[in-house]
Amino acid sequence: MTGWRFILITIVLMKTKDSRVINGQVSPDNLNPYYNESMEIEKRLPQHVLPRKYVIAISPDFQKDEFHGSIRIDLELLKDQSYIALHSKDLAISSTKLYAGKFQTEVRIQSVFPVRKREMLVIKPYRNISLGEYYLKMNFSGRLKGKINGFYLSTYVDENKSIRKLAVSQFEPFYARTAFPCFDEPSFKSIFLIRLVYSKKFFYHARSNMPIEKMETMGDDNDKTIAYFEPTPPMSTYLVAFLVSDFECLGSHMNLLNESKIPVAVCVRPMFKQKAAFALNITIKAMKFYLETFQINYPLQKLDLIGIPDFATGAMENWGLITFRETQLLHSENDSSCTNMRKVSLTVAHELAHMWFGNLVTMKWWDDLWLNEGFATYMEHIAVDSLFPDWKLMDSFPLYTKYISMKHDVKIRTRSVVKRIEDLNEIEEMFDRISYQK
Ligand SMILES: [Zn+2]
Repeated sequence: MTGWRFILITIVLMKTKDSRVINGQVSPDNLNPYYNESMEIEKRLPQHVLPRKYVIAISPDFQKDEFHGSIRIDLELLKDQSYIALHSKDLAISSTKLYAGKFQTEVRIQSVFPVRKREMLVIKPYRNISLGEYYLKMNFSGRLKGKINGFYLSTYVDENKSIRKLAVSQFEPFYARTAFPCFDEPSFKSIFLIRLVYSKKFFYHARSNMPIEKMETMGDDNDKTIAYFEPTPPMSTYLVAFLVSDFECLGSHMNLLNESKIPVAVCVRPMFKQKAAFALNITIKAMKFYLETFQINYPLQKLDLIGIPDFATGAMENWGLITFRETQLLHSENDSSCTNMRKVSLTVAHELAHMWFGNLVTMKWWDDLWLNEGFATYMEHIAVDSLFPDWKLMDSFPLYTKYISMKHDVKIRTRSVVKRIEDLNEIEEMFDRISYQK
């Protein structure tokens, strides 16, 4: 851990001006002398370089609206390689080192260069590297501001009319690469150890997929906190999540199949805390329903649902740290409508179904997205119908699924449920009525 403590300190103190910085945007000034535009890199990452474990330390800087990070990726090479390619976009990489695993021998790197059209970074050693275990260490930084995916800045105005900042992640389908260098395809499941470094001021606290293992303080005035999170089970990069915010949580516990209890919480900006009670109640009941129905345990040791002020979609099923647009999570017994009650119930039940459909069992590639979304849509209705039988939800199920998808399906540009995806820009088009409702 002491090694990591050193790295964390370097993150906090890191100067971003570095003559070796390679940006996602290559300019003549920072073009690596070994960069070769004509180098042919496949659209997909090779299947014989496997990431086994990531240790990621990230620190948001709310003064400059940027973040700094360091990463160690343990790799297994199934074949000899002349280079290692991984995803990275919009990150400034300030150092890259490669080590042969067993004896921690440094492998001399000839060049590190981005391949922009593939959103990849290529690490080329002087000599071919033989199959076996290796690890990569990199330092990097990126911006928080001006985006709504990756690791980004969200703000809200509190009761004192002050602007409050928070930093949150949204990685599905291919934005993890804008927060840390990674093998950003769903088939590359790995263990993730997340460490978040943040200021102790302003009541900030950190959350990630897993519970906090331990906390430490650091910095000149002990003004920084490091939260070390427990290792995740093997999972895809698009499900990794972290949050640094001043949110308050409404918490409870739920039973797993083995009768052990785990904490469950709904966290929102403090002024909305009372509106989180309904979602918390639905979460506990829907999880009980899924556990009893599937007879497969929820494998994590906590579950958080977070309402984010600025959010691109309705909700995102990050394992153990589900994020929502606030309107999809908040409900007031006094002010909200019955329609809102139905919407929040279905959205929460949908995301909880993903804890199994998508998170535990994951499609290898995005052409089978319907396996995530189709089953989550079906199960959200089954679960909410069991919680509120008076709503007779299954009577209207065809209206909200079959007929909506048919309306989409008659269009000339419709597609098959399973569609072969070649290019990155086709992936986001898969999040449509066909994947969810057909
Ligand atoms: Zn979904």
